[in-house]
Amino acid sequence: MAMADHKPVLIAGGGIGGLATAMGLAQKGIRSILLEKSASLGEIGAGIQLGPNAFHAFDYLGVGEAARGMAVYIDQLRLMDALTAEEITHVDLGEAFRARFRNPYAVVHRGDLHGVFLRACQNSDLIELRVSSEVVGYEQDGWSVTVKIANGDRVTGSLLIGADGLWSNIRKQVTADGPPRVSGHTTYRSVIPTEQMPEDLRWNAATLWAGPKCHIVHYPLSGWKVFNLVVTYHNDAPEPVAGKAVSEGEVLKGFGHIHERAQSIIRHGKNWRLWVLCDRDPAERWIDGRVVLLGDAAHPMLQYFAQGACQAMEDAVCLSHMLANHDDHAKALETYRAQRFPRTARVQLMSRAIGEHIYHPSGEHARLRNAIMGAKSSEDWYGDLAWLYGGTGLGT
Ligand SMILES: Cc1cc2nc3c(=O)[nH]c(=O)nc-3n(C[C@H](O)[C@H](O)[C@H](O)COP(=O)(O)OP(=O)(O)OC[C@H]3O[C@@H](n4cnc5c(N)ncnc54)[C@H](O)[C@@H]3O)c2cc1C
Repeated sequence: MAMADHKPVLIAGGGIGGLATAMGLAQKGIRSILLEKSASLGEIGAGIQLGPNAFHAFDYLGVGEAARGMAVYIDQLRLMDALTAEEITHVDLGEAFRARFRNPYAVVHRGDLHGVFLRACQNSDLIELRVSSEVVGYEQDGWSVTVKIANGDRVTGSLLIGADGLWSNIRKQVTADGPPRVSGHTTYRSVIPTEQMPEDLRWNAATLWAGPKCHIVHYPLSGWKVFNLVVTYHNDAPEPVAGKAVSEGEVLKGFGHIHERAQSIIRHGKNWRLWVLCDRDPAERWIDGRVVLLGDAAHPMLQYFAQGACQAMEDAVCLSHMLANHDDHAKALETYRAQRFPRTARVQLMSRAIGEHIYHPSGEHARLRNAIMGAKSSEDWYGDLAWLYGGTGLGT
């Protein structure tokens, strides 16, 4: 292995991207020290969708069996019109889908997915996990990179991977392109016991109810014990917010104009929390010498393709592959960046576009959506989505 005998690689951030990268490096015999800001390693209690490209990544990163064990395998991606409560279209995720993409589509609890990676990292002799270690900056010479931790400590490694999310400190130094863009879209999340979900809506599907300037998503999680509810309102919210507790009344405010059946889903939610979503325009600069960005730190995107974590795992596959296959770190980092940038930029930009044209249109724009999307078969959808779901992190 090209880098096995050197100083460890430093990874800032213990989210799904950081842990996946530590696992990818360990699979190649490369040591790493992962530095996480929080006092413990964990994820928020909500769901996440996983396209087949995530399963390619799980296998490459050595956690395929564990990840498959905790997923709920849904039958459909279903698009409903939130004004009429009628189905617009669906994508069948059964045998034909799996045969086409050689992997399934699934939904998981974020904590379960994070736990799969965390246990694998804890069981590896090549990975050291340090909590309460916020990386505030770095300096480098020709041979190594040293990070500064908020408590004054310093840690030196061969490379630094900035997997520190949307508000990345590492990005500030690598790219210096200012804060993320506030989208003005407010998302509210709730997880409820399955028996509290209206019985006639307990579908084995990732369901999207699309309405004017708003939408609702729901799907089952954790062996069908709970349902994940995510509702979004394009209310031009001006400031970023993350995880603020809000009342049901506040959530319902943006949904008075949609069909009662769709509104009723919101009434079943409990303990709602609010996020104002942010993303960025694609930016090509991911590398500064021995420092490279990954996951949301490199390419934060709106969640409308349900791909942020999937893309972070693809990054982990690609970066560990390149580091194992190039003796020259500069060549490895640049090959990773050149391969990952166009694909992640496409997902960033198209996530915005589908928000506008599929999730939130009204009037004629919505009728056009219904006509175009309603005319497509599942086979048509497989063709349209092949660029995304056929990805492996090592090219499509
Ligand atoms: C509402 C919503 C729904 C979504 N649904 C999906 C979905 O269905 N499918 C999907 O694939 N993606 C989805 N995503 C996107 C996905 O959650 C993110 O893209 C993914 O979690 C990014 O992982 P990451 O590891 O890059 O960053 P993060 O998860 O943000 O992890 C960053 C980590 O770094 C730590 N950290 C931050 N700063 C520092 C520092 N300076 N030093 C050390 N540690 C630091 C943080 O505490 C955190 O642990 C969704 C996002 C949202 C908002």
